[in-house]
Amino acid sequence: ENEVITTDVVIVGAGPCGLFAVFELGLLDIRAHLVDILPKVGGQCAELYPEKPIYDIPGFPMVTGQALVDNLIAQIKPFGPTFHLNQMIESVEPTGSPEAPRFRVTTDAGTVFDTKTVVIAAGGGSFQPKKPPIPGIENYENGSIFYAVRRMEAFRGRNILIVGGGDSALDWTLSLQPVAARVTLMHRRDDFRAAPHSVEQMRTLVAEGRMDMKLGQVTGLKGENGKLEAAICRDNAGETFEIACDTMLPFFGLTMKLGPIADWGLNLHENLIPVDTEKFETSVPGIFAIGDINAYPGKLKLILSGFHEAALCAQKVHRYVYPEKRLTFQYTTSSTSLQKKLGVA
Ligand code: FAD
Repeated sequence: ENEVITTDVVIVGAGPCGLFAVFELGLLDIRAHLVDILPKVGGQCAELYPEKPIYDIPGFPMVTGQALVDNLIAQIKPFGPTFHLNQMIESVEPTGSPEAPRFRVTTDAGTVFDTKTVVIAAGGGSFQPKKPPIPGIENYENGSIFYAVRRMEAFRGRNILIVGGGDSALDWTLSLQPVAARVTLMHRRDDFRAAPHSVEQMRTLVAEGRMDMKLGQVTGLKGENGKLEAAICRDNAGETFEIACDTMLPFFGLTMKLGPIADWGLNLHENLIPVDTEKFETSVPGIFAIGDINAYPGKLKLILSGFHEAALCAQKVHRYVYPEKRLTFQYTTSSTSLQKKLGVA
């Protein structure tokens, strides 16, 4: 049984809007825990376009997706947020009352929070792996077939088939090759979308006989009781062959799905969460939604909208967390109290 983490706010999603919410909440003395299913922070900016320039962040004529994320991390540092990465929030159960909300929030890694408020900054939903269309694949998931590597040690001594031709496939091929008994990389064609340097390293390992590379597609699986014994494959000439393996790691990219948010008892509209534009609160008092995931008349799915929404929702979160305290409006330029919180005064 895991220890329960008691907190004022849990932020669902560490994209740009979730990150900036840490800042706005921090100025109001509210400390945040953030959870993201990805192994890194930054949401779409970090996962989908880290090197692309963004031109419409106020005050930055140009900033790349990753540089924006790096700057947000630097900006929220004074507030010491706690990140729980590689975990998906599965359930949010109310345990309080509408006047004094409280929630029990649980992740798929077993982390449990007892929190006064929840800020959903889940963007387009959770990033989830695309699964290859192999009949019966679900029978082997989590025992022999994995879509992500959470702990390399779990794969020590295994006979691994990695499928895919992008950066994840190549990176994990190189990382697991020294740990595994044997690694085979399979891709449809002899042309990889991964960083050229990684492809070169992989080819050197193949030339030295330290791993295998095969062209083709996995069409079926052989094994019993969820224990994989071999992958049935077809090459580009249509010939069938088998690769003996006890573990398969398909890396076919990620898609965004709403995921478990649909089960949290919130009103939804076309997979978005309707909110008011004063507090950005959902149909459940104490649960807020900011950034790409919310909907209201005139909504623009821009990062700058999410920043504004974070500032306003923090005001109402403050009312729930400190019901007895009055909130006075202050500028960061002139308030020594805010500057102390930021560690600059
Ligand atoms: P996201 O960035 O989507 O982050 C949400 C995070 O929540 C994700 O990491 C996800 O894994 C996580 N999550 C979801 N559900 C769960 C769960 N149950 N448990 C745990 N974690 C969960 N916007 C601009 O303003 N200017 C631009 O120039 C611009 N260019 C873009 C270019 C591209 C190619 C793309 C794809 C988008 C662009 N955008 C741009 C849009 C911008 O990226 C989004 O508006 C922004 O990322 C939304 O931020 P967010 O924090 O709301 O959500």
